[in-house]
Amino acid sequence: MKIPMVDVLAGYWGIKDEVEAAVRTVMNKGNFILGEEVTRFENEFAALNGSRYAVGVANGTDALRLSILACGLGPGDEIITTPFTFIATTETISQAGAVPVFADIDPGTYNLDPKSVEKKITPRTKAVIPVHLYGHPADMDAIMTLAKKRALRIIEDCAQSFTAQYQLGGKEWKFTGAMGDCGAFSFFPAKNLGAFGDGGLVATDDPEIAGNLKALRNHGSKARYLYETEGFNSRLDTIQAAILSVKLKHVLKWTEMRNAVAEKYRAALKDVCASAVIKPGCRHSFNYYTIRFESKTARDAAQKHLSDNGIANQIYYPVALHLQQAYERLGYKKGDLPVCEQAQDEVFSLPMYPELSDEQIKTVTDAVKEAVST
Ligand SMILES: *Cc1c(COP(=O)(O)O)cnc(C)c1O
Repeated sequence: MKIPMVDVLAGYWGIKDEVEAAVRTVMNKGNFILGEEVTRFENEFAALNGSRYAVGVANGTDALRLSILACGLGPGDEIITTPFTFIATTETISQAGAVPVFADIDPGTYNLDPKSVEKKITPRTKAVIPVHLYGHPADMDAIMTLAKKRALRIIEDCAQSFTAQYQLGGKEWKFTGAMGDCGAFSFFPAKNLGAFGDGGLVATDDPEIAGNLKALRNHGSKARYLYETEGFNSRLDTIQAAILSVKLKHVLKWTEMRNAVAEKYRAALKDVCASAVIKPGCRHSFNYYTIRFESKTARDAAQKHLSDNGIANQIYYPVALHLQQAYERLGYKKGDLPVCEQAQDEVFSLPMYPELSDEQIKTVTDAVKEAVST
């Protein structure tokens, strides 16, 4: 049985008529750029996520880039983040003229280790970008405590974590992206809430940042043809917003289904390899389900066995960013961030989407077991 990493259409068939009606409405109105469906989706998203404002943008990468700029970060500023992420997290730092500074990660959640972050703080540090990797919330209590002490901005990279939750201070449950100054979301088709193309959004509680974001996504313009600053062309398409509004109504249920898949993976693999952890005070969105082996040799062998049997799998991420050629200029070398460097050699991710059947799950877990026992 061939099993893909993700089936971006699986959730569509049950809501096809509603999605197509929403698209047709926009096509008949012709309000393709910043139509009322964009505002409606922004309001619905903000309400669900518990954020005061939501600003739709062209993609998740721009959500990060515009967040950085809207927070007033730029040349001369250092922004601390994780090297165990997609390059969008850091290319946007550089593109804003700031410098990415890499800290090490926690070996259980693969998220930023606040102790390592603290060691990387200098007088030039102006912000931290925690990534809620795979959909597991970063250690926000510790990161926010550090940031408050030094007046650092926090931009949450929520590209993989929409609907993940964190119990702030052991009390109130918050969705990711509703804790820092900004939460940057991606609607790339394979994310928890996927558009039919590219899309992104920034959530914030700060009216000034929200105003900056709205200007930045539309050439810097706050009033038509008047520019206080230069900006970008980075708007969320009306058609995508209309589709996302329909899908948004189902996203919490889809996250529950992902968690049910994860629980079946965990139960079947508990004696075979290290499963994804869920720390107390955290609710996972399971954009990816990542397992870990005792060595690179064991990982590579298991991965090959799955591939040989038609089961998709992927290493997120095989070469940490501090060791990439793109960041040679920053002067990191192998051994600088050992926890991260070990993780990149020992993990890979299994197929994960809400509609995975029990039979598919069993095929995947049987293949992992076979790989480990041979
Ligand atoms: C997908 C992703 C992004 C970028 O989102 P796009 O919509 O593809 O631009 C940023 N950060 C992380 C961690 C991601 O997984």
